[in-house]
Amino acid sequence: MVRKKSLRDVDVKGKRVLVRVDFNVPMDDQGNIVDDTRIRASLPTIEYLMDARAKIILMSHLGRPKGMDPKLSLLPVAKRLSRLIGTQVKFVNDCVGKEVREEVEKLKEGEVLLLENLRFHEGETNGDETFAKDLASLGEVFVSDAFGTCHRKHASVYLVPKFLKPAVMGFLLEKEINYFERAMINPQRPVVAILGGAKVSTKLGIIKNLLKRVDKMFIGGAMAFTFIKAMGYSVGSSLVEDDLIPVATDILEVAKKLEVKLYLPVDFVIGQEISDNTPTKVVPWQEIPEGWKGLDIGPVSVSLLKEIISDAQTIVWNGPMGVFELDRFKSGTFETAKMIAQSPALTIAGGGDTDHAIHLAGVDNAIDFVSTGGGAFLELLEGKVLPCLEVLDDN
Ligand code: AMP
Repeated sequence: MVRKKSLRDVDVKGKRVLVRVDFNVPMDDQGNIVDDTRIRASLPTIEYLMDARAKIILMSHLGRPKGMDPKLSLLPVAKRLSRLIGTQVKFVNDCVGKEVREEVEKLKEGEVLLLENLRFHEGETNGDETFAKDLASLGEVFVSDAFGTCHRKHASVYLVPKFLKPAVMGFLLEKEINYFERAMINPQRPVVAILGGAKVSTKLGIIKNLLKRVDKMFIGGAMAFTFIKAMGYSVGSSLVEDDLIPVATDILEVAKKLEVKLYLPVDFVIGQEISDNTPTKVVPWQEIPEGWKGLDIGPVSVSLLKEIISDAQTIVWNGPMGVFELDRFKSGTFETAKMIAQSPALTIAGGGDTDHAIHLAGVDNAIDFVSTGGGAFLELLEGKVLPCLEVLDDN
C-alpha cells in the first residue's frame, strides 16, 4: 500500500481544518443515540486538533435520508460530542451555503463546529463536484477520518480531497489501515482467518484473497453448508447456495494447492426452525437429518477452533458462526469471540455483525482491534484498494 500523509505531517495551527468523520450512530425513535462508539472513535483526531489550536469543522452523514429529515439531524451528536470533549460544540443547520460560511468565519482557534447531515444534499451520495467544491472551500486542510465510508465515492470523502490540499489521514483512519497492514500485509505467522456469516456469495472475494495470505482458515456460519454439500454430504434443510457448489469445490482445491489448512465445523447445533422455540440437537457434521437446519457450530467445533488458533500469531475474524441473534444459537459465536479475546496473538475483527456480536459477548476491549467500518473493512479483506484512501496525499 502507498503510504499516505497523516495529520501529524501537516501544520494546522490557526487553520480551518475540515474533517470528514463517521458519526453515523444508531438512534432510537426518540432521537437518542443508542451507541456512541463511532463518536468516541473520532476523539483522538478532534482532541489533537483542539490542542493544536486549529479551527475545527466536522462533517458527517447520518442514516439514509431522502432530502432534509429532522429525525436524521446531527444535532444530538453535537450535544453528545460536547459532553465527551468537555466543551461546547457549535452546530449549524446545513453543510453548505451562506450561513455555514459565516459560522466558519467566526470560529476561533480550538473551537469545534459540526455541520448538518451531508446526506440532506443528494450531491453527497451522487458525488456532485459543485457540492464537493462548496464543502472544500470551507477549509484550508482536509482530514479524512471516516473509515466506514472510505469504500464509497461520495463527495465529502472522495471528491473534497481532490479540491482541498493538503488532504491527510486522521488518526482513526491511520489506525484502521495500520492494523490491517500488520495483520494482512506483513503479518507474524501463523495467520489464522476465521470466517462466518450467511452466504458464500458475499464472502467469495474475501475467501479467495485470504487464501493467498493466511496459513489456516476456518469457515463457519451457514457458509459451511455449501462446502459440506460440495464434498458430497447431505446438510438437511440448512442454508445452501446450490449455484456456488462448483465454486466451493474449486476453493477446496485452491486451498490444497496453496497448502492452506482449510477447516470446517465438525458438529452443529441444529433446529427445525430459526426460532428460540424450536427443539435443538447437537449432531456430527455429516448427520444433519432432513427437515433440520444447522444453526450454530457445536461444542466439538469450538474445541477444534481453540486448537487451530493455539499457535496463531495473527488472527483475523469476520462473520458469526451461527444465528447469534437467537439465544439458542449464539454460543458458537460468543465462544469464538471469547477465544479470540483470550489469544495472545494479534487479533483483529470487523464487519457489522461481527462487531455487534463482540459487543454482545462483552469482549470488545480484549480484542486488539475491532474495525469501525463494515463494508470498508470487508473491501480491505477482499484485497481492494479503498478509493477514498487513494486520493489522499502521498507521504
Ligand atoms: P453476514 O452478513 O454474511 O456476515 O451474515 C450474518 C448473518 O448470518 C447473521 O444474521 C446470522 O444470523 C447468519 N447466520 C450465521 N450462521 C447461520 C446459519 N447456520 N444459518 C442461517 N443463518 C446464519
